[in-house]
Parts: sequence; C-alpha cells; structure tokens
Amino acid sequence: MRLILLGPPGAGKGTQAQRLVARRGVAQLSTGDMLRAAVAAGTPTGARAKAIMERGELVPDDVMIDIIADRLDRPDTAKGFILDGFPRTIAQAEALSDLLARKNQRLDAVIEITVDEGKLLDRIEGRARETGGARADDTAETLSKRLAVYHAQTAPVADYYRDKGMLRQVHGMGTVEEVGVVIENLLSEVMEA
Ligand code: AMP
Repeated sequence: MRLILLGPPGAGKGTQAQRLVARRGVAQLSTGDMLRAAVAAGTPTGARAKAIMERGELVPDDVMIDIIADRLDRPDTAKGFILDGFPRTIAQAEALSDLLARKNQRLDAVIEITVDEGKLLDRIEGRARETGGARADDTAETLSKRLAVYHAQTAPVADYYRDKGMLRQVHGMGTVEEVGVVIENLLSEVMEA
C-alpha cells in the first residue's frame, strides 16, 4: 500500500499514520519527524531547518525532495509506505511522481483529513501539553502561520490529486478510532478497485 495523508497541522496525519503502520506493517515516512531528528542530531540539514520550522515556514523543496528520494531508496519501503507531511507543495508532488515512476511504483490513494479550523488550536494546545512542549512550533502564533502556509502552498496539492481523480476526503474531527475506521474502509475500497 502506498498512501499519502494530507491535511492541515493538527488534523491527525501522524496519529492516523501510526495507527495504519501498526495494522499494515508499512513504513511511516513523516518528513516532520525526519527533520526533528535531524535538528536533534545537529546535522547540517537540521541546522538549516531549525529556524524555518520554528517560524512555521516550509523547508526548501530541494532539501525535502532529496530527503524523500533517499528515504524511498531504503528497503523497508518495499512493502509500502504512508507519507505524512509530504508533499507540501506542487513541486514536491511533481518530484514524487517522477521518483515513483522511475521505480515503477504508483500511489494507491491520497487521503485528505479535513478539520474544523476553529478547533485546531485546542488540538495543538492539547498536543503541546501531552508532549510536554517538545515541539517548538506547537504554539498559537506558529499555528496561525502554519495554517496560512498550508492554505497558500499545500491546499493546491489536494487540488493536484483531485484533478488526477486520486483524492479522497475524510472528516478528521472524530476520535482517533472513528477516523481510523473511516480511513480503513476507504482503503479497502481503493485497494479492491
Ligand atoms: P509536521 O510535523 O509535518 O507538521 O512538520 C513540521 C515542520 O517541518 C513544518 O512546519 C515545516 O517547517 C517542516 N516540514 C515538514 N515536512 C515538510 C515538507 N514536506 N516540506 C517543507 N517543510 C516541511
């Protein structure tokens, strides 16, 4: 199974990706997690990304595309993968298309998790409490920037996949379990088709 989870910050992409990984044994490719690991390890990429992430802006496409190209070359993606947080721009979506075409692979589905934006701040504040403030970008101020970036740069990615007839939408404001079941049902339909 090769799947993209799209959705604004706080939609539950990471949570749902982890749920699917546990059930389907595929790799979770979270670019946010990869960048946070690079920041923690103090790599050159991490050093470059740190301030950008703290501002809620996007790390440049060439950096992200290199990261994903390397990651897709690793053998654990052979059984499939869930991309969570990538692609975030049209340039990234087009690069992913080329990378997969070269590997003779195709995506099974692109699922957009939709949210009530008025409730996102509560969710993000909840995550900040649960993680003890581990993420420097989980603040009200950065959330509004990340949402603006999402509308400007990532919403067109949903349109890109909609135009290709690949986009499915799931409302993400239920419990983890409720949203997870809807996603599972949708995946069963897509994989049988
Ligand atoms: P996330 O954990 O997916 O919310 O990502 C946290 C931050 O990492 C984002 O706000 C961006 O600064 C950066 N980031 C993660 N994935 C990407 C991507 N595909 N393109 C650009 N920046 C990214």
